[in-house]
Amino acid sequence: MSFSRPDIIRPPSEWRSYFLPLTSGCSNNTCAFCGFHGSRLQMRDIEDAKSEIDALSLFLRNGIRLPNIDGVVYAVAQRWDGKRVFLQDGDALVYPFAKLRDVLQYLKEKLPSVDRIATYATPQDILRRSPEELKQLSILKLSIFYMGVESGDDSVLQAVGKGVTSQELVQAGRKVKDAGIALSVTVILGLAGVEGSEKHALETANVLSQIDPDYAGALTLTLVPGTPLYEQWQQGEFHPISPFRSLEELKIIIENSSFTNCFFSSMHASNYLSVRGTLPQDKKKMLKHLDTVLSSKDPALLRPEIMRGL
Ligand code: SF4
Repeated sequence: MSFSRPDIIRPPSEWRSYFLPLTSGCSNNTCAFCGFHGSRLQMRDIEDAKSEIDALSLFLRNGIRLPNIDGVVYAVAQRWDGKRVFLQDGDALVYPFAKLRDVLQYLKEKLPSVDRIATYATPQDILRRSPEELKQLSILKLSIFYMGVESGDDSVLQAVGKGVTSQELVQAGRKVKDAGIALSVTVILGLAGVEGSEKHALETANVLSQIDPDYAGALTLTLVPGTPLYEQWQQGEFHPISPFRSLEELKIIIENSSFTNCFFSSMHASNYLSVRGTLPQDKKKMLKHLDTVLSSKDPALLRPEIMRGL
């Protein structure tokens, strides 16, 4: 079966990148809240990926477009500054190591202006790689991993089918940092529903502190039709938290986490309020902002439901 180019799903900070697919779908397709749930993992033929790099290089140097290359390549290349590449898809780190190294080497040769390559990585992918392999990837400019933590609460991780424990999340995160690769993690406000809200927030703060990432982003749960969690909600088995409760969870996480130097934000479009700062130094300012909104309970201060995105 031929490889189908995936839609562009990327972290907000990768908006300036070129999107190079190596896989489609996610190897850990079991997360009950995620649009990748049940997706079929496809690996792209390495020669096909290299042809795209060749075409990109030719376009950037001479403005030549090849007829056999997908139009999306040129659409993205036209507004690209030649510096950053994001490897698609849900966890491109699952791409076989020797091939991944080969693609990175090829990018280095053909597009020497690229100075940063990024990928989503599941904790399982990271734990499968040896420290030496991660260092090799880092030398080849794969310098930032985006890893979903979602929750620090083992009962929540199990309930949503994340496939790892909180301690495995910590091990994976530390392994990335030890390899000299920058780490950006995400957590999901509201993932434990009403009943598990407090514990989810406290244990998430604990796991984030142990990982001590360079970047941490909070998302707010959005129930996606077709996912198991959406079905549980429809059946009355999952009780979503309110928008203001999501801000209380955010406050608990910020209050109880301890970082060396972490840019922490809730700027993602799924959130009801955008808070950002570098922790620990901006902790007081961020908590004050949250307290002001929480004490007012004014819905006009929140992002309207219709404006929330995935
Ligand atoms: S590992 Fe990440 S991309 Fe894959 S299903 Fe889970 S949340 Fe989605």
